Amino acid sequence: MTIKPNLVIAIDGHSSCGKSTVAKDLAKQLGIAYIDTGAMYRTVTLYALRHDLIADGRVDEQALTAALDSIRISFSFNADTKKNETFLDGQSVETEIRSLPVSQNVSAISAISAVRHAMVRQQQQMGSRRSIVMDGRDIGTVVFPNADLKIFMTASAEIRAQRRFDELTAKGQTVSYADILDNVRQRDHIDSTRAESPLRQAPDALLLDNGQMTMQQQFDWIMDALRSRRLITD
Ligand code: C5P
Repeated sequence: MTIKPNLVIAIDGHSSCGKSTVAKDLAKQLGIAYIDTGAMYRTVTLYALRHDLIADGRVDEQALTAALDSIRISFSFNADTKKNETFLDGQSVETEIRSLPVSQNVSAISAISAVRHAMVRQQQQMGSRRSIVMDGRDIGTVVFPNADLKIFMTASAEIRAQRRFDELTAKGQTVSYADILDNVRQRDHIDSTRAESPLRQAPDALLLDNGQMTMQQQFDWIMDALRSRRLITD
């Protein structure tokens, strides 16, 4: 397979619609890097929770902004689990950043302008001079407005909540479907109404509603889009 040099694939969309699963599969198949930008906002949120910078949903923005330069986020491949893991100051936080307390506070943290600027800068550096698949909320609109392929993924809130419920339950976490549905709706609302780079479909992004699609169908759909744009050739 031939791949266009410095290929940038931007995948945006609503919470819990399977962006990262598809993005990971795609990166693996193409042999290029995958960057989960949601994990970066989640890691900043975990930092804020650990340092008591969030109380009753209110963030101490000043203290968090002052700490931003010292929050070291990195990704590394774990050979045992064969998965990419997120690190905060050299310590794996992969499990903690997926917990409900982090999910409940991440949208408030990611609405803060200074946080977004710091993350976007790091994301642009991570994606310069190499091929990548990056997923998030503002990749096609803000981080890489000139991405080669932009996809906007969505599905109904109920389907997304059920998927997240199944995922967390399979990991042994005790959670309620109603709480998750609430969280999904709340995050949709905050993400799409925030002043700073709100979640929206870029005009040149392809819409992928995966509510009734299998993982394989989604994967094939994206591979077809890449082929028809001659971004890959078999
Ligand atoms: O993708 P994930 O659900 O893990 O992202 C967690 C949260 O991080 C989102 O609900 C959103 O508030 C925020 N986010 C963002 N911009 C991105 C990626 C994630 O605001 N590029």
